[in-house]
Formats: sequence, structure tokens, C-alpha cells
Amino acid sequence: MTEAIVSLQHLQHNLSEIRRKTGEGVRIMGVVKANAYGHDVHRVSETLEQNGVTDFGVANIQEAIELQTGRALKKPASILAFASPLSSQIPFYLKHGIEMTLCNKETLFAAESHAAATGKKLRVHIKVDTGMGRLGLPPAAAMELLRASEQCPGIEVKGIYTHFADSSGDMEFTRRQLRDFLSLASEYEHSSGKQVLRHAANSGAILSLPEANLDMVRPGITLYGYHPAKETGTRLSLKPVMQVEGKIAFLKTVPSGSTISYCRTWRAPATTTIATIAAGYADGYPRALSGKGARVTANGQSFSQVGTITMDQIMVDLGTSSTAQVGDRVILFGWEGPTTAETLADLSNTISYEILCAVSRRADRIFR
Ligand SMILES: *Cc1c(COP(=O)(O)O)cnc(C)c1O
Repeated sequence: MTEAIVSLQHLQHNLSEIRRKTGEGVRIMGVVKANAYGHDVHRVSETLEQNGVTDFGVANIQEAIELQTGRALKKPASILAFASPLSSQIPFYLKHGIEMTLCNKETLFAAESHAAATGKKLRVHIKVDTGMGRLGLPPAAAMELLRASEQCPGIEVKGIYTHFADSSGDMEFTRRQLRDFLSLASEYEHSSGKQVLRHAANSGAILSLPEANLDMVRPGITLYGYHPAKETGTRLSLKPVMQVEGKIAFLKTVPSGSTISYCRTWRAPATTTIATIAAGYADGYPRALSGKGARVTANGQSFSQVGTITMDQIMVDLGTSSTAQVGDRVILFGWEGPTTAETLADLSNTISYEILCAVSRRADRIFR
């Protein structure tokens, strides 16, 4: 009964906001990992493709194959998997033409032998660790990996990339990351005589460090309508792409002093009407929001969620003057009403990314 309304128009709007910021010369990789941050990878990628995006970033080979075989993309697209592959996964990159993130020589040699066996060329992006501390080799070792890749006829180095640890706060560190990355890139380009696609910027860097745009940028959260942090260099006029709605399943009037939900953490201060909404933490409305006073919207009015959030249902205090009826829709977060994914993130001590990714399969995606 929970619905996640996905506005493909808002997605297009956000894409053009990002383009306006980067300028036309910069390629945009649509980051569509985690089912496009919960929005539906197929419909999101299709819409991005219709608006000129030809590069897509996903978390791993499984997501890449899902996108590739889902047939939402009509033209040949580049799909890069950000994960460092296990050797057992390498054949799938070749079979499906997925671009690989290459982080070490072991994977390079395994990939080369698979490529040689199939007669296909494997396109790779070398990942450089300039300070994120997650994947990739530091610049000097990455240079050796680049040189070793040159010796492998089955491998085509299409790109090199890095990822920023903090692109909204300590820009000094981010600038240092960018400098180290750029000096590696130019050293490689000089010594090999080849041009490679250089990319580094996530949403935060797009907003706060324009010189990191390079050949391509990799926005995720801004496509979906949120800024990556409270403080960013530039603010875009972004629109949330997802709105999550439940329905009023039950209404009752309770006397003052009645307690609501598990562990009786909320007590009615006066006689009031309580609505039970058919949506809970199994739909992605975090249990950590219990007792935080999150606002939901019904018939243009906003009300407070009360008591412990349960797996399938939440309760809302409608007060005494609401005209809400069983069956009415209730907006939990989105573009209408006061509550966005960011509001819920702030209340539950997380980030908008996690609120969006948490919207579960049980919420039907409806596209507008
Ligand atoms: C998730 C991810 C991005 C996008 O990050 P946002 O902050 O959502 O823009 C870019 N690059 C890599 C490697 C990522 O894993």
C-alpha cells in the first residue's frame, strides 16, 4: 500500500541543473548504484539516456548486468562498476561488456588471461587512492599498474579515477587529493602518449570544487534532488525525485492519557484522533524516527508521527479538527509538505542517501 512516487521530470530538472553548473564540455556519468538510490535503475537510466547521458556508474557487476540486460538503455552505453572485482567475476565483465575498476596487478593479470582466452578487449578504469582509503592504489603504485596494463593486449585503459573523502568540508584536503591525482594523470599521459578519461568529482565536488570536473563528473545524490551536505560551495535548485506516501488505514479517537504503540512511549496529552498509516520500517520509514516528531502531510495539513514506529504501521496525531478519512493519502516525505528525505535524515541522525536507499521493495514505484 505504500507508494514511492518517482518524478522523472524532477530528475530531468536536476540533471539540467547539474549541467548548468558543470558547463556543456563535461561528460556526466549518471550514478545509478543501489537501484538508482532506491528510485528504480531502469526508469532512471532510461530518462538520463533520453537526456543525453551515455555513461552510467553502478556498485558492482551484478548491478551492471541488471542494468545491461534490463533493456532500458536503447543505445550502446558505458557502464562502469565501482567495486574491485573478485577473480570469479571477471568473465562477466567480458561477457556483458562492462567496464571494470582496476585496483591491483593480481586482477590485471587475471583479467588479461580471461581476455586473451575470449579474444575480447576489457575496458578498465584504474582507481587511484588519493586519500579516501577505500579502493585503489596510491599514485606511485597506480603508475606501475598503468604501465603493467600497457603490456596487456587484452586490456584497454579507458580511464583513471579517484574519489574524494570530504568534498563538502575540508577542501584543503580535497584540493590535495585532486593535485596528486592530476600529477599522476599527466605523468601517465606524457610517458604513454595516450589520453585517458580522467574523473573525480562526486556531487560534493561538483558544487564545491569546479576545477575537479575534469573530463567527466559522477553525480549521484544531486540527480535525486538533494545536496550532499548542509554546507556546499554552490546550491542548485534541486527537486526531490521521490515522494513516499502511505494511506490512512484506521482512525480512532482516544481519551487523554491513552498510550500509543509498543513500549507505550507516547501518551495522549488530551482527547485526540489517532490515524494509523499503513507504512512502517519495512517500507523504509526508519524506526529511529520514533518519538522524533517527524511531520507527515494529509490534505495539505501537517501532523506529527507519535509513538514507536512498527514494521508495517505508524501512528499520527490528527488532533481534534482534522477532516482526514480512512483511505486518504499521507505524505511521509518528498516534494509536498514540510518533510524531505533530508528532514528525516536529520531527525534520525543519518544522511538523505540512506533514507532514499532504505525505501524497500514493498513500496510500489509509481512514475510520473
Ligand atoms: C556513490 C559514488 C558517487 C556519487 O556520489 P554522490 O555523493 O551521491 O554524488 C561517485 N563516485 C563513486 C565512486 C561513488 O561510489
